[in-house]
Amino acid sequence: MSSSKTTETLCADVLIIGGGGAALKAAISARQAGAGVLIASKGPVGKSGATYHSALETGAYNVPGGYIDSADTPDIFYRDIMEAAKGCADPLLARIIADEAEEGMRFLEECGVRFERNADGSYM
Ligand SMILES: Cc1cc2nc3c(=O)[nH]c(=O)nc-3n(C[C@H](O)[C@H](O)[C@H](O)COP(=O)(O)OP(=O)(O)OC[C@H]3O[C@@H](n4cnc5c(N)ncnc54)[C@H](O)[C@@H]3O)c2cc1C
Repeated sequence: MSSSKTTETLCADVLIIGGGGAALKAAISARQAGAGVLIASKGPVGKSGATYHSALETGAYNVPGGYIDSADTPDIFYRDIMEAAKGCADPLLARIIADEAEEGMRFLEECGVRFERNADGSYM
């Protein structure tokens, strides 16, 4: 029995493995820096992995920018994450999320993501 497998050689400046949020952020950043990007993903790009399921199931993005609670800050967000994780969260990663979530939201909006808003324009 003969095998029908073929081999194709692809070239790029940057090879991204995976098609979730981390991969797509890396791909966009590399492209914006002028690199040719190739994505190799096991599942459909943008529609596989935790990113897709968290967007579908929770559909929310937590930001400590005082949008809902004016007293909210990255430090309070960090404490909330660490308490909710009950000792399982990596403190360094939690700190990055707390400090960079707002910048991440702005990045998503620049990419075209539209977050739901109230009639007065404030975030829900
Ligand atoms: C229901 C739910 C709610 C969540 N809520 C929050 C929240 O409120 N706040 C928060 O910060 N985080 C939340 N998370 C966690 C967050 O969604 C994940 O940490 C994040 O999306 C992970 O992104 P990622 O790109 O690293 O991985 P993923 O999105 O999982 O992407 C992995 C990618 O790699 C591909 N892949 C897998 N194996 C291979 C392979 N062998 N070769 C090539 N490609 C491969 C997959 O197809 C997929 O495209 C939630 C997660 C879930 C499921």
